[in-house]
Amino acid sequence: MDESQDGGRPKAPRVPEYLDRIAPYEAGKPMEELERELGISDSIKLASNENPLGPSPKAVAAATAALSRLHRYPDSSGHVITERLAQKFGCRPANIVLGNGSDEIIQMLATVFLSEGDEAVMSEPCFLMYPIATASEGALAVRVPLTGLALDLSGMVRAINGRTRMVFVNTPLNPTGALVSKSDMDAFLADIPEGVLVVLDEAYVEFVRDRDGLNGLSYLGRDPRVVVLRTFSKIYWLAGLRLGYGFMDEGIASYLNRIRIPFNTNLVAQEAALAALSDDEYVAETLRTVHEGLDFLYAGLDGLGFPYHRSEANFFLVDVSPRDGREVFNALLREGVIVRAMNSYGMPRFIRVSVGRPEENRRFLASFAKVMGGGGRG
Ligand SMILES: *Cc1c(COP(=O)(O)O)cnc(C)c1O
Repeated sequence: MDESQDGGRPKAPRVPEYLDRIAPYEAGKPMEELERELGISDSIKLASNENPLGPSPKAVAAATAALSRLHRYPDSSGHVITERLAQKFGCRPANIVLGNGSDEIIQMLATVFLSEGDEAVMSEPCFLMYPIATASEGALAVRVPLTGLALDLSGMVRAINGRTRMVFVNTPLNPTGALVSKSDMDAFLADIPEGVLVVLDEAYVEFVRDRDGLNGLSYLGRDPRVVVLRTFSKIYWLAGLRLGYGFMDEGIASYLNRIRIPFNTNLVAQEAALAALSDDEYVAETLRTVHEGLDFLYAGLDGLGFPYHRSEANFFLVDVSPRDGREVFNALLREGVIVRAMNSYGMPRFIRVSVGRPEENRRFLASFAKVMGGGGRG
């Protein structure tokens, strides 16, 4: 018997060293547990950029109907939903890949394009999935700080070298809500060397009001380096079902489909998403709620004299300086208002607030004023 066996118990096999560079993901506590700990019962969650209205009744009905078929495997390639997406967005089904959330598409892209020693360029801060997927392939995440809370696209171009295989561009940007304009994106693409994949993450694109905002689908068929990611998690209220979709060059899509886990998107998600895609009324109501909510929150903070940053998404940053974001987060938590502290994003003077329903927005403003000690610096 060899000495690695301690008292007859063998050691677990070793994993590649590069996996030690990934910090374990810190998930927020479930609301029920927080409420139990704090002894409150009516907390509101404005922390995860979810849709404030809840799922569309049509999507819920479709999901419920799908439950009677749970003994069946789903359609592995999501044929029907893919056809419907192709029709809606004017492309071919072969340009579309479905994922268990767009998170999974990010992981599939990393698996296809990155190997040990490669590099992927992304902002600091950025969506946590980009560095996780990059590190999971043994590649290096090269981080480029934001300038004025927006992506520094020229800095990202300068960070590209011979080892770079991917660049992540997120617009509107989580967590700041900043946009990349069409002209800036065109200039950026002109500077990107051939052989580098540009992942354009448009998880919040439907919320954009600014007409200079980008529509990544305009690159489809024209520039095979661009992959556009969208999701059913935000505007379509289905975060809990996990369904994302990506538009890309057919050749790239075929590689993703080779490594895709069969049945990666589930039956209920596919059915609910189909219904969601035809519920235009509820999408319109969501947009109205979010846009009116944002304007109400801006006006409320203006009135109180607290600074914030305007956003093109369904969340925005509130500047709590000189206070610490985590401290303000904890104080709001005791009021039953859950927001997101930005400390782990390297922005310790900010909290991120997702827009809620009118009564939730009012409650946030009242609790925020209380926690911050009445008036701001206005
Ligand atoms: C929420 C979000 C997504 C979508 O994630 P899903 O896996 O589709 O739920 C993608 N990118 C960003 C930046 C996000 O904030």
